[in-house]
Amino acid sequence: MRIFDPHIHMTSRTTDDYQRMAEAGVRAVVEPAFWLGQPRTNPGSFTDYFDSIIGWEPFRASQFGIRHHATIALNPKEANDPRCRPVLDLLPRYLAKDGVVAVGEIGYDSMTPAEDEVFSAQLALALDHDLPALVHTPHRDKARGTQRSLDVIKESGIDPGRVALDHLNEVTVDAARDAGVWVGFSIYPDTKMSPDRMVEILRKYGTERVLVNSAADWGKSDPLLTVRTAEAMLAAGFAAEDVDRVLWRNPVDFYSQSGRLDLSDVDGAEATFAGNSILRGGS
Ligand SMILES: [Zn+2]
Repeated sequence: MRIFDPHIHMTSRTTDDYQRMAEAGVRAVVEPAFWLGQPRTNPGSFTDYFDSIIGWEPFRASQFGIRHHATIALNPKEANDPRCRPVLDLLPRYLAKDGVVAVGEIGYDSMTPAEDEVFSAQLALALDHDLPALVHTPHRDKARGTQRSLDVIKESGIDPGRVALDHLNEVTVDAARDAGVWVGFSIYPDTKMSPDRMVEILRKYGTERVLVNSAADWGKSDPLLTVRTAEAMLAAGFAAEDVDRVLWRNPVDFYSQSGRLDLSDVDGAEATFAGNSILRGGS
């Protein structure tokens, strides 16, 4: 089993976690820039963080044979702090870098006017830099936040096939699928979404344009919940091929749209590209 976790905050995890993930089959991860819990008070603090997730974390991951890419953005929560707003001006420099495969995570936290502005500005950056966008849906008032996010995505003019809308659940998945975006699910130990609920969603909606992640961060979370979801799929009668699609080929297809996803030398990754080139008529 090969696993690609398309949304995981490794900066919050220990090196032992990398080791456990590698042993369980995780071979690639994408780490989105996010809120660190402790408010940042100046743009320099973001510069150090961005440098860490495009430099230090890929190095740490590589020691366990895990390929690490990042997404870069001003997160929705800190979009509300005027001291952090100049981060928007730093982004173009980072969005030009090789290991950066999307703009993210962007979207809404409390749906304030400041968040509106920063969300739209960053969707425009995704268009400018020809990058996909990773959009976080708010934890409070999720249904309204999801609809409003989809409205803003539509207004921006970005191709919905280049957007992943994340942290969805049974209530919000229909609207996201109808809009044509990729649907992302974060599997957590107690809240949000469990492996068994995820299996039910896959039964109902199929495996196309679905992304499953552990989102593991500084809160109660588990970086192996992608693996647990794969096991739950197999136990529920899904084929190994379906598991590979959801937990490897889908994230590969989504982030490949950046033109920067580099899985060379990743154990077993070649099969992906051979498979995809057949599906895409050899292109
Ligand atoms: Zn996140």
